Amino acid sequence: MVLLSIVVPCFNEEESVEIFLKEIQETLKEHDYEILYINDGSSDNTLKKIKELADSNSNVKYISFSRNFGKESAIYAGLKNASGDLICVMDVDLQHPPSLLPEMIESVSSEDYDVVAARRVSRKGEPKIKSFFSHLFYKVFNRITNMDLAEGATDYRVMRKPVVDAILKMPEYNRFSKGLFHWVGFNTKWIPYENIERTVGETTWSFWGLVKYSIEGIVAFTTLPLSISIYLGTFISIVAFIYMIVIIIRYLLYSDPVQGFATIMCSILLLGGIQLLSVGVLGKYLEKTYIETKNRPIFIVKESNIDDI
Ligand code: UDP
Ligand code: MG
Repeated sequence: MVLLSIVVPCFNEEESVEIFLKEIQETLKEHDYEILYINDGSSDNTLKKIKELADSNSNVKYISFSRNFGKESAIYAGLKNASGDLICVMDVDLQHPPSLLPEMIESVSSEDYDVVAARRVSRKGEPKIKSFFSHLFYKVFNRITNMDLAEGATDYRVMRKPVVDAILKMPEYNRFSKGLFHWVGFNTKWIPYENIERTVGETTWSFWGLVKYSIEGIVAFTTLPLSISIYLGTFISIVAFIYMIVIIIRYLLYSDPVQGFATIMCSILLLGGIQLLSVGVLGKYLEKTYIETKNRPIFIVKESNIDDI
């Protein structure tokens, strides 16, 4: 029987880790599996709880980071150290229903799919405004990156080893997993499910956190914003040239030099704004390049029960 590795990022989830394990044990009675908890610098008793579970269950592995590196880094560390032929990524808060797992494993083992991923089809229990912005993000992202990210796509997925190897070949520091998963290609089957509210603990995502995450995602997958200044600059130059001719003709005909305060103010402000914005966009890409060139590790392990980490 093939081994399934379940990669589970955990950040301050002391209440969830044990419930999660119980659920998996219930669901996967007939499968060979290992659980790889990644403790992402939790400040509560998450690590202690995980160690207790590892002591009494030989198929529970863990990696504990030296500080909080973020969920994306935790996923990377998990994928890198998973030993199964099938690898699953899952949240510990049970918002990714374990009940889908048997179907996902079945599809990826017997059908011609390399990846089976879960898609949230409802957003019940979520603030309307969050759904609205999320919808907007997918629209904008897909339009400007020429990618086709499925709306409601989650990180909850079961992948074959070659897919994971492909993802690991992208050791970039700025990891936008949704995009990376899509970028590598492979046959993907989507399984729809209804949104489930968190039972215990709290989400770590704030609204601004999500906005920043969206910008990171866009910067990571398209350089289109860099070219926008070229188009905008060309357009404004043409308009400015035409307007210049209009002014010269008007001056020659009516010789009226004093008017035009409003025009001057508007153009200074507008152009100043556009220029600063373009410099900002440039800066954003420069920032990303700078960080990538430093080549810092994506995560630092403090302790683990995996031998050859
Ligand atoms: N998580 C993590 N590191 C972080 C933030 C979150 O490993 O810095 C984990 C968290 O423990 C959970 C998963 O990522 O297992 C999803 O987090 P959360 O439930 O807060 O996000 P949401 O479900 O609201 O998108
Ligand atoms: Mg959650």
